[in-house]
Amino acid sequence: MSSPSEKALVPFVSVEHMMQLVHHIGIESALRELADYVEDDFKRWDQFDKTPRVASHSDVGVIELMPTSDGEAYGFKYVNGHPKNTSEGLQTVTAFGLLADVYTGYPVLLTEMTLLTALRTAATSAMVAKHLAPKGADTMAMIGNGAQSEFQTLAMKAIVGIKAVRLYDVDPAASEKCARNLSGLSVDVTVCKTPEEAIQGAQILTTCTADKRNATILSDNMVGSGVHINAIGGDCPGKTELAAGILDRANVFVEFPEQTRIEGEIQQMPQDFPVTEVWEVITGKKKGRVDDKQITLFDGVGFAIEDFSALRFIRDKVKDTPYQTKLDMLADPDDPRDLFGMLSRAKED
Ligand code: NAD
Repeated sequence: MSSPSEKALVPFVSVEHMMQLVHHIGIESALRELADYVEDDFKRWDQFDKTPRVASHSDVGVIELMPTSDGEAYGFKYVNGHPKNTSEGLQTVTAFGLLADVYTGYPVLLTEMTLLTALRTAATSAMVAKHLAPKGADTMAMIGNGAQSEFQTLAMKAIVGIKAVRLYDVDPAASEKCARNLSGLSVDVTVCKTPEEAIQGAQILTTCTADKRNATILSDNMVGSGVHINAIGGDCPGKTELAAGILDRANVFVEFPEQTRIEGEIQQMPQDFPVTEVWEVITGKKKGRVDDKQITLFDGVGFAIEDFSALRFIRDKVKDTPYQTKLDMLADPDDPRDLFGMLSRAKED
């Protein structure tokens, strides 16, 4: 049987290889570099195909496909969101993704994206906070201390420069886990008993809880002037974290309004509720934070371009490293039109 040529072998990054690659780069360096990839892609927003993700909802969760292309490369991510999964010993969010060459249509990378989603979500949150958070922000409240929480904290440390995090979760075991994982990583960690305690003295408030309902993680009277809210847990229809009154008092920044109006905190607001797109702030087209009293709110739901950036990042980083397996996933007949002949010869062999 003839073996496939090199061009038909697709680099695959497993979970094991992803962990080795991230440690090889260093977690905080990886977050910083990845944030630069995301920011670079936000700067060339016009070049991308953009569509709200394709979601398949069930009573217990959602499965989504997130495609985009810049005309040279095409990427998509498969991702789920199942808040009930943790009680069954499974992840709330798991993902994998693919990058392909638009010219040939051939895949150039297949990779796990559960870890990569946590990294890209954290890198995006921190990249946005770098533009919107009050100057000198050094403390973050982290409400929801599940799988994303340590990544969020480290990205805010590496990219925004926070020095302290105040943790709150309805499940104290989650906060203890987060505090344990962050110990020795040069962040001052305080575990709090209430969300009110967690937000004391924090200039950045991150909400990252998982519950498929309209929750009130932050009520209107909890949020004082001048803070930056990084609301990322509400990311599908019927799943929000903030009281509507906060949205009325804040300037709201979003990734792609067509998707965020369906999935984000602003699903609670009228369709014409004013928002600013993050790429407009990054390119200087629109203003971000204008004074130190303003409440800025990143209504982050996760957009396909961030996954595209993450796929580009891994493609570049994994090149010429041992952190990959070459997958025989593309048929490669000697004569491209003789697919059947290739199958027949495999039997003879
Ligand atoms: P997870 O299940 O690992 O953690 C969620 C945590 O929230 C749990 O520890 C839970 O106890 C806690 N929680 C639930 N209700 C709470 C409440 N009322 N107050 C405080 N804590 C509460 O989930 P995860 O992987 O960390 O993801 C968290 C959320 O972020 C999910 O909803 C997920 O869909 C979303 N998410 C968004 C993006 C994005 O790009 N915006 C990316 C990844 C995940």
